[in-house]
Amino acid sequence: MTMTLALTGQGLFVLFMESTFQANLLITGQRPGAILNRQHVYQALKNVGTFVKGHFIFKSGMHSSLYVNKDAIYPHVHLVSSFCQQMAFVAQERHLNKVGAVVGGALGGIVLSQRVTDHILHLSNTYWCAAIFADKMGQGKFEIRRGQEKFVKDRDVLVVEDILTTGDSAKGVVAAVRMAGGNPIAVAAICNRGGVTANNLQVPVLFSLLDLDLSKFTFRAKSNLSGCPMCMKRVPIDTQLGHGREFLKK
Ligand SMILES: [Zn+2]
Repeated sequence: MTMTLALTGQGLFVLFMESTFQANLLITGQRPGAILNRQHVYQALKNVGTFVKGHFIFKSGMHSSLYVNKDAIYPHVHLVSSFCQQMAFVAQERHLNKVGAVVGGALGGIVLSQRVTDHILHLSNTYWCAAIFADKMGQGKFEIRRGQEKFVKDRDVLVVEDILTTGDSAKGVVAAVRMAGGNPIAVAAICNRGGVTANNLQVPVLFSLLDLDLSKFTFRAKSNLSGCPMCMKRVPIDTQLGHGREFLKK
């Protein structure tokens, strides 16, 4: 079976579906127009410019020829909504249907928590779910503030994230949920590009709409920079994305 997709700058619309989806994303009995498999997620991310080629420096100090730019996703509202709907579907399929709050870390996670909660409420009108965000406090720490804590306390919580790289941000949000008295039962991400596991995040369940192994694009530069093929070819380091600017100042 095949699926026809119309992908525009504004979003992704599934026009016709007659495909066998990857089992882990098949949500039987749900609105077929919204089901996305991993190839669709990858293609949609690619089309909006999420994958950028160049010479980048990661926070870890690693050099990379590919950067996953999460900021490219958010201007495309329909695409964000499709991803969030998919997260809500998968959460339901995984029987995470008692989620009392969806929490995302500022900034992107604010958008995700709103949209995922909206879709969860549409899927199940039998209970109430809160959309909450955690403030970024610096040094990887997050905190649920502004009176939002009461919507998290004693509730099962789904933590949402756009791109998992090291998992540090998601881990920080999970810790903030626990600090507010909530029970983080799962983390959902659009893309896991760092091989992050549920164990890393200290939650029972982790699922992502797309898993990417970027190890073949990533290099550990030695002190003479011989470990990085781009450094050896003197490809300029990108100072807009990643940590190239800080790297060049050193
Ligand atoms: Zn390099």
